[in-house]
Amino acid sequence: MSTRINPFCLDGRRALLTGSCRGIGFELARGLGQAGAKVLINGRDKERTHAACAKLRDEGLMAEAVVFDVTDYGQSKTAIDDVEKRLGPIDILVNNAGIQHRAPLEEFAPEKWRELMQTNLDAVFYVSQAVARHMIDRKRGKIINIGSVQSELARPSITPYAASKGAVRMLTRGMCADWARYSIQTNGLAPGYFQTELNRALVEDREFSDWLCKRTPAGRWGQVEELCGAAIFLASSASDFVNGQMLYVDGGLTSVV
Ligand code: NDP
Repeated sequence: MSTRINPFCLDGRRALLTGSCRGIGFELARGLGQAGAKVLINGRDKERTHAACAKLRDEGLMAEAVVFDVTDYGQSKTAIDDVEKRLGPIDILVNNAGIQHRAPLEEFAPEKWRELMQTNLDAVFYVSQAVARHMIDRKRGKIINIGSVQSELARPSITPYAASKGAVRMLTRGMCADWARYSIQTNGLAPGYFQTELNRALVEDREFSDWLCKRTPAGRWGQVEELCGAAIFLASSASDFVNGQMLYVDGGLTSVV
């Protein structure tokens, strides 16, 4: 009798999600946890990180808190090496932490540009390198970089954000180029517009919200839990020959003018 194996099952896997105390990161942690993974919740604030972790445990999921600031190379590397030693191998990394600043490009402050690049781009390199060194030793791993529809499309007042997310798309392809030979699959998950704290200003802007619903073929904002299926696919053996791709979960926004 043949046994049917579920390629989406994450039983026995450990997943680190950066910036997962709230918003998309928290929901993805819940989704990967429900698919069987033990999730490692990351944030830079100890209380918020432990609170998010406790919430998932209350739901019956396996969760641990890992506090570090992803923009700090040394702190990230130390924390990741410690996790590997103390809690076991990180099988799945989701680079989710991200920030937004809005201003016309001609007025954009250089220090805001730096802060945005440090969080949205530098940190993806820092954390991925620290985790990938362990994955390379094991010759196995999944990395998911959170992009955006701005990995493809620009918009007035968020040019630095679009530049950072466009770079994440190329960093994803570069990780594939360097690490696919070690059986590490690196892919991007690129959300359209979702109702989270990061987008609060837009959600509350009636004019923008009406425009967005007309511009998006699906005719609405995304709900964060709608990202989980794609994340589980990219985190599981179902995607073992998928590498260097961006998966847009955007209600069709990037496919239609
Ligand atoms: P939120 O602002 O709701 O959450 C961002 C999370 O990142 C927070 O938990 C925040 O923690 C954490 N974070 C920020 N900086 C750091 C840092 N230096 N170290 C550790 N954690 C940090 O954002 P979203 O959930 O909306 O966005 C998550 C990702 O999805 C981002 O990469 C974003 O660009 C992307 N995205 C979001 C879309 C949307 O519609 N919302 C659309 C497309 C992409 P803290 O509480 O400490 O600030």
